[in-house]
Amino acid sequence: MRDHARVRCWPSKLTHRPSWFDTYRTSWGDEALLRAYHAYVTTTVTITGTGTPIVDPNRAGPGVLVHFESQANGSDGKSEPHHTRLQFDAGRNTVARLAGAGVATQDLDAVFLTHFHSDHLVGLQDLVLTRWILDRDDAVPHLDIVAPNGATNRFCHRMLEIWDDDLAVRSHHNHRDPSPRITIEGFDCPAVPTEVWSNDHVRVLAGPVRHEPVENAVGYRIETPDGVVAISGDTNVCDEMYELSDGATVLVHEAMRTKLIAERPAHLQYIIDYHSDTEELGSLAARLGVPHLLLTHLIPPPQSPEEKALFASEVRAGGFGGNLIVCDDLDSVSF
Ligand SMILES: [Zn+2]
Ligand SMILES: [Zn+2]
Repeated sequence: MRDHARVRCWPSKLTHRPSWFDTYRTSWGDEALLRAYHAYVTTTVTITGTGTPIVDPNRAGPGVLVHFESQANGSDGKSEPHHTRLQFDAGRNTVARLAGAGVATQDLDAVFLTHFHSDHLVGLQDLVLTRWILDRDDAVPHLDIVAPNGATNRFCHRMLEIWDDDLAVRSHHNHRDPSPRITIEGFDCPAVPTEVWSNDHVRVLAGPVRHEPVENAVGYRIETPDGVVAISGDTNVCDEMYELSDGATVLVHEAMRTKLIAERPAHLQYIIDYHSDTEELGSLAARLGVPHLLLTHLIPPPQSPEEKALFASEVRAGGFGGNLIVCDDLDSVSF
């Protein structure tokens, strides 16, 4: 088992650390200081959608919300609590699930996309348009949309074109900016995990995954002062995902019961090529020693507790012994 505490960011690297940090730094031991600091900060991972292209009334399309929060610094009486809210992919119904998690579209700091398959993108226009419509004073900051270059990035640049009539009418009626305030940040799919976004508290790295024939598919690694979250997007179980997840506290990974798919007619088995077998995933997670494994993008979508248990038993057969959640929408983990 890895020492996961060691990947936490040491608070001295943070721009906005509590004022008591420097006061007590010399008199407290490192361990006590770190413990006190971590009482101030929390990272929460919420699955906004566990679905796939297969329609399921209880499962929204793929998405993960990572929320980092730091309490107000009470000692100076001035500072406000800090929030960083990052959304990863935006499948169908993402906006409704975010509301279910208590998050408005205007609260998001950035959206990150893993690849251009429609099940991961069809909720993005809804998210951007809803944010714009509800921001009646053009007061909400630009939303960063971070996407690998190629088809995913092209989609982002084109996605509002078909809404030009709606944007024109609404903005003329309200006397406001007709362009939703977004900034599209493209990046070339890197060979190794590489930083693609950061603020004073959180940094996000992208790394390649194996979803061929889809090109430039990526997973993400989110580093907060609490630790590391890794998100697979769609992929085979692969060494690249091992590298991206190294030292993670929470791994959010897609999962497929290959045995069931292999019983389908031959022409319906092609998805085996580019999704993650449950047992192989259990083996990967065991090698990583990750404390929390959250299964999402569940193929086929389980319809009962018994079917969820079969996902879990196959992952256990791969050797994983940590905390395992076969997720429903809005399941979450805080650390
Ligand atoms: Zn997918
Ligand atoms: Zn896909």
